[in-house]
Amino acid sequence: MPIAAGSQPRRVTHGVHVGKVQLGGGAPVVVQSMTNTDTADVAASVKQVAELWRAGSELVRLTVNTPEAAAAIPRIVDKLAMMGIEVPLIGDFHYNGHQLLAGEPACAEALAKYRINPGNVGFGKKKDTQFAQLIEFAIRYGKPVRIGANWGSLDQSLAAALMDQNAQRAQPWDATAVLREALIRSALDSAHRAVELGLPADRIVLSAKVSGVQELIAVYRDLARRSEFALHLGLTEAGIGSKGIVASSAALAVLLQEGIGDTIRISLTPEPGTSRTQEVIVAQELLQTTGLRAFTPMVTACPGCGRTTSEFFQELAKVVQEHVRGKMPEWKITRPGAEHMTLAVMGCVVNGPGESRHANIGISLPGTGEAPSAPVFIDGEKAVTLRGENIAHEFVALIDEYVDRHYARSAG
Ligand code: SF4
Repeated sequence: MPIAAGSQPRRVTHGVHVGKVQLGGGAPVVVQSMTNTDTADVAASVKQVAELWRAGSELVRLTVNTPEAAAAIPRIVDKLAMMGIEVPLIGDFHYNGHQLLAGEPACAEALAKYRINPGNVGFGKKKDTQFAQLIEFAIRYGKPVRIGANWGSLDQSLAAALMDQNAQRAQPWDATAVLREALIRSALDSAHRAVELGLPADRIVLSAKVSGVQELIAVYRDLARRSEFALHLGLTEAGIGSKGIVASSAALAVLLQEGIGDTIRISLTPEPGTSRTQEVIVAQELLQTTGLRAFTPMVTACPGCGRTTSEFFQELAKVVQEHVRGKMPEWKITRPGAEHMTLAVMGCVVNGPGESRHANIGISLPGTGEAPSAPVFIDGEKAVTLRGENIAHEFVALIDEYVDRHYARSAG
């Protein structure tokens, strides 16, 4: 398995099959996302799953919180199949998952994976019974599970027991360390219990999510050291806008660089009116910019400065990125390898030609006081100079021609 320059080898984990997608066991890091529709609203859920899938989500999770939501799952799977979409769906269960799976066998069958939160699978005496029932459904239907502990719904009885044990120590840990241990133990103990109940280790994925960057890194390093279960990475409640993107990237990049993580989800709060697909794009860009996977050609663009005369180069960078992203679903089939292409859109002669030469195709636009011409470099050589009103259109056409010439049409 090729790894990014400077990164550590991927951690060895059990390979888990979620539908036709493999997590762990040496497979590339998988991108997943979650819907925010009412799952019982079949039309809205199908629409959003399709959008997430088209954006590149390889697995999609939906909340299954009511009998209506459970009944909707097989209908959602059927409608997606009629659209030619076979993305594995994950059911997110809390509190009543054992009842919902018992009441809707078609839901249990249609889902490709169940997510169980050990902190709220049940309370008191019912906790162990209901956890066992969920695992028995996974065994009966041949499904993997994610045992997903979460800081916000930590198993309080376990946390209290570990606090009591800590008080007996000669040198007690600080409270944060105890709670971190409780989160890890909640995930690990539940996974070991699932194995005892008969669920094979290669059908278990673990997560232990917190909302702080340093805490998440510490928790996952420990989790990775203490087990070989496949790991789902994600910063929970990452936040809105740039804060959510930066916090998630900061935490996940460190872990991925250390070879930790088999699937990622970026838990962004969408800005009002923006698409849910942003979390998929951020996940892909995180994996691509760290060199772990390639999804779509990447555009290198300078930030601009006082040497740029207009916003034209910013607009061109945006047009180019949107063009290649829009073409990628088609290129994925007809032009495999195009996702590795690199592009540059630069604002002036200072770094423009140099950066453009490093890309497969780069354009150096004229800065303040420069001649109104834009040299285009292809594979390091100056190929043509564009001028006039149609630079954007002509540059995009050169990209398409490059893709046609360099990436073979798939035999299929
Ligand atoms: S390449 Fe030119 S326009 Fe872009 S940031 Fe550098 S100096 Fe400024």
